[in-house]
Amino acid sequence: MELFELTVHELHEKLKRKEVSSVEVTKAMLARIAATDATVNAFITVCPEAALASAAEADKRIAGKEMEILTGIPLALKDIFLTKGMRTTCASKILDSFVPPYDATSWLKLKNQGAVLLGKLNQDEFAMGSSCESSAFGPTRNPWNPECIPGGSSGGSAAAIAAQQAITTLGTDTGGSIRQPASHCGCVGLKPTYGRVSRYGVIAYASSLDQVGPVTRDVRDAAIMLGAVAGYDPLDSTSVERPVPDYLNSLQPDVKGLKIGLPKEYYIDGLHPDVKKALELAIETYRGMGAEFIDISLPHTDYAVACYYLIATAEASSNLARYDGVRFGHRTSESCGLNEMISRSRDEGFGAEVKRRIMLGTYALSSGYYDAYYIKAQKVRTLIMQDFLKAFEKVDVILTPVAPTPAFKIGEKSSDPLQMYLSDIFTIPVNLAGTCGISVPAGISKDGLPIGLQLIGKPFCEETIIRAGYAFEQATEWHTKKATL
Ligand code: GLN
Repeated sequence: MELFELTVHELHEKLKRKEVSSVEVTKAMLARIAATDATVNAFITVCPEAALASAAEADKRIAGKEMEILTGIPLALKDIFLTKGMRTTCASKILDSFVPPYDATSWLKLKNQGAVLLGKLNQDEFAMGSSCESSAFGPTRNPWNPECIPGGSSGGSAAAIAAQQAITTLGTDTGGSIRQPASHCGCVGLKPTYGRVSRYGVIAYASSLDQVGPVTRDVRDAAIMLGAVAGYDPLDSTSVERPVPDYLNSLQPDVKGLKIGLPKEYYIDGLHPDVKKALELAIETYRGMGAEFIDISLPHTDYAVACYYLIATAEASSNLARYDGVRFGHRTSESCGLNEMISRSRDEGFGAEVKRRIMLGTYALSSGYYDAYYIKAQKVRTLIMQDFLKAFEKVDVILTPVAPTPAFKIGEKSSDPLQMYLSDIFTIPVNLAGTCGISVPAGISKDGLPIGLQLIGKPFCEETIIRAGYAFEQATEWHTKKATL
């Protein structure tokens, strides 16, 4: 096996036994990126010198026996995480030359363990999208088939894992942006409960929905990464003061007696036949392991996408007001008055999808429409939340598809925003409810594209979805399948 194919836990063992040094693996990763990224375009920024310098530091730490699980592990971050001294663009022209003065808490935690940052990953601009096509730095391509999208918005994170350009990655998930690309690229993607991981230093899209989480090769790596970044942060008032369990204890291939809910609203006619088949097989697998299935209903599912696009765009219109050419971001080179300078800077800096959402959100918040749209959406959000709480009185986890279809072709939906929005129907409700979900590889389509399954857990019960995901992984071979680039 090549060094760049290893998981975090496998590489950790090798580093510990001194079979390989962090500098050697880091060089192997950089060579892999150089060989594959012209095709994949997963990276916006690669930083070889900084990576090799931190790998050398990590090797000293390993020699001095001050090793932690992520010491010396080469990883990459979605370009939404602030990285001190390293350009952070959020895939937008407006932040093209922004170099943050501080680190995001989640990155700082990994850095303090001695993780090695290879670079920053492509995404949809400001995390608005499901395909990675709205990046100002060109689309990322799916390593399983470069004609297809990798999913989004954390498309670069999933593609980098599938293309073996990074050992592990972090992404963010506002309406599915970790789970959907993980599903489309054959990786594991975990969206923690809202408040589980600090959002400090993560560029805000929709603050009541955004959450940080890992995209990895297997469930064990997802447990390792979640353990590393989770926990209360005084710098993020929405992070929750609750002890972080040792998620590695949940890695038991045992689901006997686990009650799994199947929501009827998620098993619909529009489901792609290959996705349907993968889910049916997964249900059989769990049954064989002694899990118990219960039919449930999440009756407000139909309203989730509309509700999300009101709340998310409203919050985005407010969050993105700061990019005015004065405090942050690109400033027009035209000489003009203040108002015109701001509007020109924003016009030149933002892409079409971001502009569309700022306009939608501003409209939904404007006086006269606020009650009819924004407040109404908040009420619907409560109903969706209650649907989940009610279902969780009867079941431990909920099993659903991640996306209605495998990855689609680049360009196929980019001119039809509504079609694009509808592809998030199974992931968005989890963010509205504020709870946790994981996507685990569960099949390959007839066209050779990966298909994931989603396990939704109770709030702050990441252990249960990790256990159920791990059990499935142990019983199947899907996570061992690799893209051939
Ligand atoms: N695809 C959804 C959107 O476009 C979700 C994106 C995300 O989770 N960041 O908003």
